[in-house]
Amino acid sequence: MHAVRAYVGLGANLGDARATLTAAVHALAALPGARLAGVSRLYVTTPVEIADQPDFHNAVVALDVPAGPSGPEATGPLALLLALKSIERAFGRQDRFRYGPRELDLDLLLFGEEQVVVERPEGGRSLDPAKAARLLEVPHPEARHRLFVLVPLSDLAPDLVPPGWTESVARARDRQKSIEGASAVRAIAHWDATLGSWVKPGSA
Ligand code: AMP
Repeated sequence: MHAVRAYVGLGANLGDARATLTAAVHALAALPGARLAGVSRLYVTTPVEIADQPDFHNAVVALDVPAGPSGPEATGPLALLLALKSIERAFGRQDRFRYGPRELDLDLLLFGEEQVVVERPEGGRSLDPAKAARLLEVPHPEARHRLFVLVPLSDLAPDLVPPGWTESVARARDRQKSIEGASAVRAIAHWDATLGSWVKPGSA
C-alpha cells in the first residue's frame, strides 16, 4: 500500500511540556506502518482565545503513513485521527474546555492531498456547543489562521499549498505574523534526529 505524507500538530502547556512533546514524537514514529519524515523546531507560544493560562509548547511532525483505501469512509485519515486520540489519552489528557490548558493536543493538520469531512454520528455529538461538531476535517480548518501551526509547519513544508488553500504555508504564515506579531511564536530548540530530541541552538 502506498504511503501518504501527513502533518500532525503537537501542543502542550501542562506539566513538562517539552518532555511530553518529545515522547509524543516517539509515539507517533512508533505507530504501525508509520515513518517519521521530519520534526519542526520547538516553539513557545502565547495562548490564543484564553489568555489566562501557561504558554504553550508547539511543534509539527511530518509522518509517512499508509494511505488506506480511499472513499467516503476516509479510512487512512480516520485511522490516524483515532491513533492520535489514543496517544493523547496515554499522556493523561483529560476532557477539558476548548482552547484551555492541556497535557497533550494532537491535531491532524494535513493528510496528503486529501480533503475530508467526516460528520460526528448524531448520538455522538457533544452537548458542549463549543466542541467540534465534526469528527474529522482535513485540512484542519483552523490551521491556516494559527501562527503556532503555520510557523512550525513552514519549517517542514514552506512551499506546500494544502488542498483547498489558495496560498503556500509560508505566505499564510507571513500574513498571520502581521496579525499576531512575530513574538507570539518563539523557536527555542531544533530537532536532532540522532539524539531523538530537541536541542538548544548552539548545543550538540
Ligand atoms: P480538541 O480536543 O480541542 O483537540 O478537539 C479535537 C476534536 O476535534 C476531536 O474530537 C476531533 O474529533 C475533532 N476534529 C475534527 N477535525 C480534526 C482534525 N483534523 N484533527 C484533530 N481533531 C479533529
